[in-house]
Amino acid sequence: MLRFAPSPTGDLHIGNMRAAIISYILSCKMDEKFIVRIEDTDVERNIKDKEKDILDLLERFEIPTNHYVLQSSNFDLHRALSQKLLDEGKAFYCYCTKEFLESKREEAAKEKRPFRYQDSWAEIEKDTNPNPVIRFKMTDSMSFVDEIKGKLFFDKKELESFVIMRNNLPTYNFACAIDDKDMTLIIRGEDHVSNTPKQIAIKNALGYKEAKYAHLPILLGEDGKKMSKRDKSSSVKWLLEQGLFAKSIALYLLMLGNSKLEKCILDNKAFNYKDLVAEVDISQFSNNSVHFDYKYLLFLNREILRSMSAGEILSLDEKLFHYGLPKNEALIDVFKLEVSTILELKELLDYALVPIESKLSKEYETEINILKDCLKDKSLFELDYEDFKKALMEKSGLKGKAFFKPLRIILSGKEHGIELDKIYPVIKDFLKGEK
Ligand code: GLU
Repeated sequence: MLRFAPSPTGDLHIGNMRAAIISYILSCKMDEKFIVRIEDTDVERNIKDKEKDILDLLERFEIPTNHYVLQSSNFDLHRALSQKLLDEGKAFYCYCTKEFLESKREEAAKEKRPFRYQDSWAEIEKDTNPNPVIRFKMTDSMSFVDEIKGKLFFDKKELESFVIMRNNLPTYNFACAIDDKDMTLIIRGEDHVSNTPKQIAIKNALGYKEAKYAHLPILLGEDGKKMSKRDKSSSVKWLLEQGLFAKSIALYLLMLGNSKLEKCILDNKAFNYKDLVAEVDISQFSNNSVHFDYKYLLFLNREILRSMSAGEILSLDEKLFHYGLPKNEALIDVFKLEVSTILELKELLDYALVPIESKLSKEYETEINILKDCLKDKSLFELDYEDFKKALMEKSGLKGKAFFKPLRIILSGKEHGIELDKIYPVIKDFLKGEK
């Protein structure tokens, strides 16, 4: 079994979406079940209804959410297993207060040594603290072989007995380790590397079978720094709001740091990411940090948009987004070649599809007025482009730039862009029909 385990504490970050897509596609390849586990253990940081947003987004990315669990529904099991670990002497009550631990931390800082919890402190405040936590006893050094990073070793000196239950609720590491019981491959961001030895230690103590782990390198923003939640483009929702297809974002996240898939996607125009199932392997993903390049994502989106028929574009995402595109396939086929996203497509059409009267040009005000006057004769739009051009030139007495610039504005609403002979045949019926 594989899983994606988002926390409902904020907008879904593209780093998380990357882990979700890779996990899901590998579950298809391995022919194993895939589940979504909402990690709602951090009761204070949970945002109401965030899980619904996350599930909706996953669905837009064609990641199935029919097997989904809330981590909180497992709290009873977490509690029972903490008791089992206590009974077996693998965990212990720790009565240290915050103040006590803070003083130890300051002491360590003063002596310029790293702070480590000592098991011998556990009962110092037993008589005065009625609210102990439960800690898991870390005894040994740990190592594991990461599918991307290779062998990782954690010295006993770096590991300490850590809290698994606080106020009768499991901590993230404890709940995660228990709920990962049946996982075969766990894929997540490398910010979790330091949690893995703790989770493995818990699983070993509970006699669970071993899972493989793969930690994906963090994504860097355009400034070369870790993409924080404050970078707009780190939010999957924001990217979709820019009119990018979920499909392009998914493919882009699969190609990042994976040159084999990148080549496969671009060379074969394999734009359905499920077609990549046979090609993907966890070892392909680079261990080097990868740059998130918005321009490249736009390029990919443009390629995908171009590969789609007008009919497909019009039937897109109808439930979720209403782009208000005119149901005119010929128009869409011409205009789609000019843009990178569906929102840009809509914007371009919005310029073109306004009555001739409202199309304005400061620079060519006189000329555009002359053309508008001539075009009151709607029969001109019966002609094909060459004849239309000739007839209009003759009628208006304009030529060269003074003819073509205002004509372009009348046909497309813009001074630059699509060639006139391409736009004319698809827009003439609209212009002819207007009152
Ligand atoms: N809830 C954790 C997160 O969102 C999950 C990490 C994991 O996959 O174990 O970062």
